[in-house]
Amino acid sequence: MSSPHIQATNYLPLQALESCSTMAELKQFHSQIIKLGLSTDNYVIGRVVKFCSVSKKDSLIYALKVFDTIPKPDAFIYNTIMRGYLQRNLPRPCILLYSEMLQDFVLPNNFTFPCVLGACCDGYAIEEGRQIHAHTLKLGFGLDGFTQNSLIHMYMNFKSLKEAKKVFDKMLKRDVVSWTSLISGYAKWGFVDEALKVFELMPARRNSIVWNAMIAAYVQSNRFHEALALFQRMKEEDVVLDKYILASMLSACTGLGSLEQGKWIHCYIDKHGIELDSKLATSIIDMYCKCGYLEKAFHVFNGLDSRGISSWNCMIGGLAMHGKGKAAIELFKEMESEMVPPDNITFVNLLTACAHSCLIEKGRHYFQYMTKAHGIEPKIEHYGCMVDLLGRAGMLEEATKFIDEMPMSPNESVLGALLGACRIHKNSELGEKIGKRLIDLEPDNSGRYVLLSNIYANTGRWEDVANVRKLMDERGVKKTPGFSIIELEGIVNEFTAGGRAHPEAKEIYAKVDEMLKYIRLFGYVPETEGVLHEAEQEESENPLNYHSEKLAMALGLLKTRPGETLRILKNLRVCKDCHQASKLISKAYNREIIVRDGNRFHHFKMGECSCADYW
Ligand code: ZN
Ligand code: ZN
Repeated sequence: MSSPHIQATNYLPLQALESCSTMAELKQFHSQIIKLGLSTDNYVIGRVVKFCSVSKKDSLIYALKVFDTIPKPDAFIYNTIMRGYLQRNLPRPCILLYSEMLQDFVLPNNFTFPCVLGACCDGYAIEEGRQIHAHTLKLGFGLDGFTQNSLIHMYMNFKSLKEAKKVFDKMLKRDVVSWTSLISGYAKWGFVDEALKVFELMPARRNSIVWNAMIAAYVQSNRFHEALALFQRMKEEDVVLDKYILASMLSACTGLGSLEQGKWIHCYIDKHGIELDSKLATSIIDMYCKCGYLEKAFHVFNGLDSRGISSWNCMIGGLAMHGKGKAAIELFKEMESEMVPPDNITFVNLLTACAHSCLIEKGRHYFQYMTKAHGIEPKIEHYGCMVDLLGRAGMLEEATKFIDEMPMSPNESVLGALLGACRIHKNSELGEKIGKRLIDLEPDNSGRYVLLSNIYANTGRWEDVANVRKLMDERGVKKTPGFSIIELEGIVNEFTAGGRAHPEAKEIYAKVDEMLKYIRLFGYVPETEGVLHEAEQEESENPLNYHSEKLAMALGLLKTRPGETLRILKNLRVCKDCHQASKLISKAYNREIIVRDGNRFHHFKMGECSCADYW
């Protein structure tokens, strides 16, 4: 950097500054400068300011003191202090200093704008941000790449997508940062297709940051198939797979129930010695839990060098959704004995474990215990777990009382738990009351209408069933379409009820017919009324026998060796008929069938289900 004071530096041991490592040493150096009469030399004093403003702790205060003694600070010095503010998360003072700079007639340079625009971002200062954008144009930085990138980032942050795109379009030279900012900006606000358009337009070799931005965009919007397809493309292009991409992909595998892909990624991490930080470790454990491979999840969990709170929570949560309540409690005790302090998520998972395994006394105990032993006040989620626990056990009166006595007003999920219990225990009176309340609270949630109509149907109130349907039509509420996924030989097969898109549809339908005929020998009676009233059933025009999970099971039986476990993922709650059929198929074909539905896991084995028919 050139400086008019370069001469002065000739006789000053500026190198001495290089060897400063503490504030004490810096202060010594500073006093030397003062003695030498160089304290008004911007080049020298600027280095002092820089040293303290980037150092840790209270050094910014010292930097500001020095700053106040400088008669005519230059842009470098202003920038340095502004960056100091920004690094310490003080966006307001940073913006104010920028305006002081202008008032002092100091011209900003291309390092000024990224800094102050970053401050506008952090400080939600959208108006100031726009004004500064105008300054960049007036002061001749309209085509400066750094500045433009900062503008894109800022506008994206404020959801001003059009303005961000405008800046991007005007750029003469775009770098990876420009592309990534635009892609992740669109992704952040859910405009995944826009993000993809930009991604495909990007000319140069895309680096892993850009790939990850796009993959993360798909994962965040639950478009896991597309994430997987993009991942394949990425592998073909030999892009380095870093831990961020791998963590995103693990989430995609979890979302799809794709155990084979998930295993591949786990293997890759092992083989390439990628460091298992807590996020990555938790993603692996979560993937194995949610893909129905609990043993493997445990194996990974036990092999961790350090088990942070998130991995404990994840493992306890995994046991909970598989209905292994006692094991979850044992693990919790182990956690306590290893002196890992639990947090409120730990107790949500623990109480869920109790609820899913009908451990009523244990549940009550831990609900008290969390406050008594760990000082954690129950939140609404914990109350929800207790309502679920009592409701599943058929203690509807107590569950209602529990809701009435809650210190906060119950939300959808608390009432939803009670409504679910009303369905299981066929209480249409309470179910009607709660169901109507829920529909008022969440008029767009189709699941609530369906559950209410199920409750009416259970007690033969067909007129009310029809009214609920009518209400849904009037309000334009669409039912969530049901689908099931089974992964075979690394290929993810997706089915909708009665869907014929699969290339082997003919064989699959024949297998379903054979399956259902065969299990009649084991006592299967098809549910006929179910077409009208089953829980969150798939489209009613599709007969029950072609519900998506039955199609997935049929393909599984066709494609796997005898005795192999079938793993199926279903987005909605399993219906009664499919549940019954699955139990009998597990017996008739001697298969373990693991189904993850919208709510929990069902392990079907020898004609029984791990949920003990409460789901
Ligand atoms: Zn079904
Ligand atoms: Zn079950």
